Amino acid sequence: MLLKTILNRVAPQKSFVYRKVTMISKKGHFALAIDIEARRNSRAICSGCHRKRPGYDRLPPRRFEFVPLWQIAVFFVYAMRRVDCPKCGVVVEEVPWSEGKSQLTTAYRWFLAGWARRLSWLEVALVFHTSWEAVYRSVEYAVAWGLERRTMTGIKAIAVDEVQWQRGHHYLTLVYQIDAGVRRLLWVGLDRTEESLRGFFQTLTDEMKNSIRYLCSDMWKPYLNVLAQEVSSAIHVLDRFHIMQAMNKAIDEVRAEEARRLKRDGYEPVLKRARWCLLKRPENLTRKQTVRLAELVKYNLQSVRSYLLREDFQRFWTYQYHGWAGRFLREWCTRTMRSKIAPMKKVARMLRSHEDLILNWFKARGTISAGVAEGLNNKVKLTTRKAYGFRTFKAVKTALYHSLGSLPEPEFTHKFC
Ligand SMILES: [Zn+2]
Repeated sequence: MLLKTILNRVAPQKSFVYRKVTMISKKGHFALAIDIEARRNSRAICSGCHRKRPGYDRLPPRRFEFVPLWQIAVFFVYAMRRVDCPKCGVVVEEVPWSEGKSQLTTAYRWFLAGWARRLSWLEVALVFHTSWEAVYRSVEYAVAWGLERRTMTGIKAIAVDEVQWQRGHHYLTLVYQIDAGVRRLLWVGLDRTEESLRGFFQTLTDEMKNSIRYLCSDMWKPYLNVLAQEVSSAIHVLDRFHIMQAMNKAIDEVRAEEARRLKRDGYEPVLKRARWCLLKRPENLTRKQTVRLAELVKYNLQSVRSYLLREDFQRFWTYQYHGWAGRFLREWCTRTMRSKIAPMKKVARMLRSHEDLILNWFKARGTISAGVAEGLNNKVKLTTRKAYGFRTFKAVKTALYHSLGSLPEPEFTHKFC
């Protein structure tokens, strides 16, 4: 009796009433079954056109799983009516607690999807005694619901990024909104081709495209091409994170090559375990690493010279004026070209050929914060790592939208999770 009172409070069903509550057995455990009946004289709603229609017949009772109580599974039991609709024919009715052919109530789907944001999908399935599939379907439902209702107008700044997915060279293209105050994932595309990114712009109207004033990306050619075509009036910024990332990659290459060469020529292994000394910023080094770095500097190594070039480049970001920054950039590139260190020269050439886009960073300062793309990128890695079960693009896409999309959710009478 009390259970029905609670149900009427947390999940009232318009035009339906909760009846008998019984204990049933389900897979060796006991569960609660709650009968639902339509209010007397109420007419069923056609699931095709959402209108009240005359009844046709009644199907055998069906179970709909609801949010568990004290770890006891709860089912609604209801015999669906079919209506004779002049527009849709003989169709099953629409009920407020469930959609389509799902065996789960809508409340339970949102409940599982909510937990799936905090735990891995497998953990959610284990904790609530359900299947991975049921959790996945629930998240998919929540994402579809949110994507249909999210607003895409007034987006001022976007960032495009690529992220590795699975083993080997599989990539995803991600587009984020990075406006001050609104940071969310807008788009997930398979691969990192022009096609992958163009897919995003195809979802936008001209008005939405025109509102974009700042773009952020790395120097990946296909992205640069598409961005130049699709949003030519926006200021394109090559962001700090990606430039420093390119430099770190070069330093790592120099170090690996040099370590091999020293070993071959029979020198003592000075570069052994030096990787993080060279990749981290000096302020992030441990005491031991600082000592190690001081030792390394004594040798005239290419690795160390590359490291010093990178550290010197940090000054670039501190300039107040775009003109001075430009002068510094050109001077740095000249110096680096003379260093005879091939991977670093490659970085310098790349910076030279994208000078305008890099200097745009100063124009966009204050609007785009440097670490945004990096922060979101780390969250992406966390999401993909958390979900070992992702074998398909569809699943990884669903998970990313779910955890990073800031998608809208319906208002509920009661919050179950
Ligand atoms: Zn109808």
